[in-house]
Amino acid sequence: MGKEKTAQERCRESVPALLQWYAYNARVLPWRDDPVPYHVWISEIMLQQTRVEAVRGYYDRFLADLPTVRAVAEAQEDRLIKLWEGLGYYSRVRNIGKAAKVICERYGGELPADYALLRELPGIGDYTAGAIASISFGQCVPAVDGNVLRVYARLTAYRDDIRSESYKKQVREMLTDAMEAGMRGSKTKDTTPGRFNQAVMDIGATVCIPNGKPHCDVCPLSHLCKAYAEGLTGEIPRKAEKKARPVRQRTVMVIRCNDHFLLHRRPQSGLLAGMWELPNVDGHLSAAGVKKAASAILSEAGMSGDVALSAHRIDDSRHVFSHVEWEMRGYRIDVADEHREEFAAPKEYAWMTSAEITETVGLPQAFRAYKLQL
Ligand code: SF4
Repeated sequence: MGKEKTAQERCRESVPALLQWYAYNARVLPWRDDPVPYHVWISEIMLQQTRVEAVRGYYDRFLADLPTVRAVAEAQEDRLIKLWEGLGYYSRVRNIGKAAKVICERYGGELPADYALLRELPGIGDYTAGAIASISFGQCVPAVDGNVLRVYARLTAYRDDIRSESYKKQVREMLTDAMEAGMRGSKTKDTTPGRFNQAVMDIGATVCIPNGKPHCDVCPLSHLCKAYAEGLTGEIPRKAEKKARPVRQRTVMVIRCNDHFLLHRRPQSGLLAGMWELPNVDGHLSAAGVKKAASAILSEAGMSGDVALSAHRIDDSRHVFSHVEWEMRGYRIDVADEHREEFAAPKEYAWMTSAEITETVGLPQAFRAYKLQL
C-alpha cells in the first residue's frame, strides 16, 4: 500500500485536474465572455446568496443602465436599489455605490489591478477581491467561498466546522500554494488563476453540490477525494449548528389616500437601511389597535388633526432575513382626506402613486405579498 497523500498534495493535484475538466465543462455565463473588472465585480456581488439563473436578468439590466463605474458613482442610491429590487441583501448594492465613488476618486474610474487594493474597497471581501484579481488581472490568488470550502473539505476529508475562520485561512493558504505550483512553467499565466478559480466554482455548483448527493461518478477529483474513498461524502462538510433566528411579529399597513400610498424611509443603519418600506410596527395588532397606530403614523407624516380612516385585514405573510424572521399581519388602511396635498410630508415619508412606486422605488422583498395592494 502506497503512502497516503497529504491534504496539500491533494490540493496541488486538483489544479491540473480541474483545469482540464473546466476546458470542456465551463458554464456559459455572460460575464465570462469578456472579463472586464467592472463586470466581474458586479456579477460576483450579485452571485453572493443568489443562484446564477436568477442573476442573469439583473446583471444585464444593471449594466445596460449603468455601463461604467462612473455611472454607478453618479447614480442616486434609490436608483441602485431599484435595479437591485428582488435580489435582497441590499447592503451589497449600497456598498457598490460607495466603492464606485472611491474607485472614481482614487483610481480614475478603473478598478485597481491589485488584490490588496481591491480588498480595501467597501463591500469587497477576500472572496470577491480574489475573483476579480484572478479572473480580470491574472493574479495568483484564490477566491474562497462556501462552495470552495465544501469541495476541499470533501477532497481532504476535513471533519471540523468548515465555517470557522481558521479553516478558511487554511484553505486560502493551501490553494495559494497549489495555484503557484500549478502555474510554474505555465504558458498561460494570464488566465490560469482565473480559470482555476472558476473551475472550483463550477465544480461546487454542478458536481460537488451543497444539497443532496454529490455527483462523484462524474467528478474529475474522484481519484483524489478522501471523503469519496472513505464513504464520507454525506457527513462532510460539517457545519456548526447555526443559532435559531429570532421571530418578530409585525403589523404592516398599506395606507391609501385617494390614489396615493404612504411610504416610509427606514433609518440609514440597521435592517434594510435607508430603504423605502410600507409603514409597519411591532406586534400583531387588532383592527382597533391598527387604527391607532395608523393615526400616529399619519400624524408623523404631517397629517395633523382627526383623520377619518378605516382598516381591513389583508394577507398575512412571512419573510426570512439573514438574522431575523418577520411574521407579518397585513391591513389596508383607507384614509378619507381630500386635502392630503396640503400636508407637506417630512423627508422620511412620501405619498406616491402605484406608477411612481413601480418606476422609482425598490421595495424590499419582505413586502412582496403586499405589492398587489399598491
Ligand atoms: S468525488 Fe464527490 S465528494 Fe469528492 S470532490 Fe468530487 S463530487 Fe465532491
